[in-house]
Amino acid sequence: MSFQVFGIPVSRGVAIGRAVLVASSRVDVAHYFIPATEVDQEYERLMRGRDAVTRELQALKTDLPPDAPHELDALLDVHLLLLNDDALVDAARHWIEERHYNAEWALSAQLEVLARQFDEMEDEYLRERKADLEQVVERVLSALAVAQDAALPGGAAAVVARDFAGEDPLLLVAADIAPADMIQFKRSVFQGFITDIGGKTSHTAIVARSMDIPAVVGTREASRLIRQDDWVIIDGDAGTVIVNPSPIILEEYRFRQRQSELERARLARLRHTPAITLDGQRIELHANIELPGDAVAALAAGATGVGLFRSEFLFMNREGELPSEDEQFEAYKAAVEAMRGMPVTIRTVDVGADKPLDRMSVNELRHEHVLNPAMGLRAIRWSLAEPSMFRQQLRAIFRASAFGHVKLLVPMVAHLSEIRQVQEAVKRVKQQLDDSKQAYGEIQLGVMIEVPAAALMLPQLLKHVDFISIGTNDLIQYTLAIDRADEAVAHLYDPWHPAVLQLLSSSIAQARAMGKEVSVCGEMAGDAGFTDLLLSMGLNCFSMHPSQIPSVKQRVLRADAHRLATALPRILESEDPAKTAAEAFAPHQRLH
Ligand code: PEP
Ligand code: MG
Repeated sequence: MSFQVFGIPVSRGVAIGRAVLVASSRVDVAHYFIPATEVDQEYERLMRGRDAVTRELQALKTDLPPDAPHELDALLDVHLLLLNDDALVDAARHWIEERHYNAEWALSAQLEVLARQFDEMEDEYLRERKADLEQVVERVLSALAVAQDAALPGGAAAVVARDFAGEDPLLLVAADIAPADMIQFKRSVFQGFITDIGGKTSHTAIVARSMDIPAVVGTREASRLIRQDDWVIIDGDAGTVIVNPSPIILEEYRFRQRQSELERARLARLRHTPAITLDGQRIELHANIELPGDAVAALAAGATGVGLFRSEFLFMNREGELPSEDEQFEAYKAAVEAMRGMPVTIRTVDVGADKPLDRMSVNELRHEHVLNPAMGLRAIRWSLAEPSMFRQQLRAIFRASAFGHVKLLVPMVAHLSEIRQVQEAVKRVKQQLDDSKQAYGEIQLGVMIEVPAAALMLPQLLKHVDFISIGTNDLIQYTLAIDRADEAVAHLYDPWHPAVLQLLSSSIAQARAMGKEVSVCGEMAGDAGFTDLLLSMGLNCFSMHPSQIPSVKQRVLRADAHRLATALPRILESEDPAKTAAEAFAPHQRLH
């Protein structure tokens, strides 16, 4: 049966493929693809897990004390029966053979299939056996985990592609995907994402955009409604997911997919064209990157620098260890060298909120059970609370500055004292590097403007820094008190809100008036729908995912920044700024 699920469009384009469901199992299950040559081996591993649990249950049965309730004995029989039923392990072979899932994943996939069948049963007694089935499966998963304690890292959604030889494109469907897991997908085979939760600027969405593949989040129920292997269309422009489409719909979307590929190819030709407005203003289009390897995509897209290197992604998926100074240095140096003398703005680690470190680190860093992580010890607050970690990062950044043009960016500043502490730390780090005769270059210091307090006290802040970068994702979140990752309030997350526009335009104007560089590195900068607005505010440096550069560049090339600026006062005063801007920026449209 064909049906649609609606969500929030977060990464554009159309993807068509088979659904791969990553269930949020109670046991942490590694999901990865096995090579085609290992199918038999993997199935045997699964059978060994089942046999181990059979022995375990039989031993439990034998050791039952004579006064144990009779039900217990009967329950163990039920578990043994379920465990050895052909519909479980035997049927799970299908997922290993056809989809090349690892044993744990295959078993969880089969559990999903059976669980749905149980849910549909009329008989209440039988329906309730679903819980027994889940317990049995968890036992097998634990047995497999014990047998393979060197299993791949990652939580419920850690899917790593290894030699996948399948033919159909695969789309990932999950209740949620943590940013740390998303980063693993950069190397994966998935051509689209669907999640139940998340908002437009949640970090899951941001990583999907950075991979330039269609994604829809905040669907609430997709992972419950879609089944393993269903054919699915992701419409990343409209935010819809079409499950088991009819041949006509499929053909229509294949056509749209081809059209958008042609459009991309057309825009890619702008790569070497400088971004200059019709009235001659040069605009810098920088890239946001998560890993040093992303610099390749930045260059390929024609970026003239890296405006935001989200260094926290180096701190994720590390089984509790933080990256050493040398490891960080190598990563920063790789990005700096790849950019061949163009500026690379490295943001100090911004963990917390929806970017927690993995479990061990979180424990170690006393992050667990914070009441309101978005307002807690995140970003620079955390760095200042962990001075030796912070100095280590600063040393790595300064050492990398010997190899190119590095800028240092501090996230989530709200107090002058935070800048002073950063400056102190920088001073100390330089002294240490001098003492150990290690080279470093000149580094400009900048702060992110993402807390309204920082925007409102800009005259004071600007005296102490060389540049600012406006993080609209958080600025909107904190100005409007909307959790950027919560789909329930996603409709209230509004970049066009008059308060947001005031903060943005006054920040840009004040920085320019004081002769300081200003850029926007939040998602607004990469959305061509906001390019005219930001140009009207006098912005001349935009930082975004490499894949967004061509469409923003196209808007810049067609814009007359002077003319746009004349409309700004009206937009700022308007009760409906989006409408006013649409009318002011494209007057010819009113004729239709
Ligand atoms: C922002 O808040 O706009 C920003 C760029 O930082 P991040 O999305 O990493 O929080
Ligand atoms: Mg931010």
